[in-house]
Amino acid sequence: MNHDYEKFCTSCGASIDKRAQYCPKCGAKQVTDSNNQTKYNE
Ligand SMILES: [Zn+2]
Repeated sequence: MNHDYEKFCTSCGASIDKRAQYCPKCGAKQVTDSNNQTKYNE
């Protein structure tokens, strides 16, 4: 199992793309930890 590219929506708990800034399910804005949301290479 690889969860590196997934996270859970902070609102509805749906599994979504880790880089997503908004949940595609409920539209809630996703808050990332300390890191820059704009940069994600890997
Ligand atoms: Zn959601």
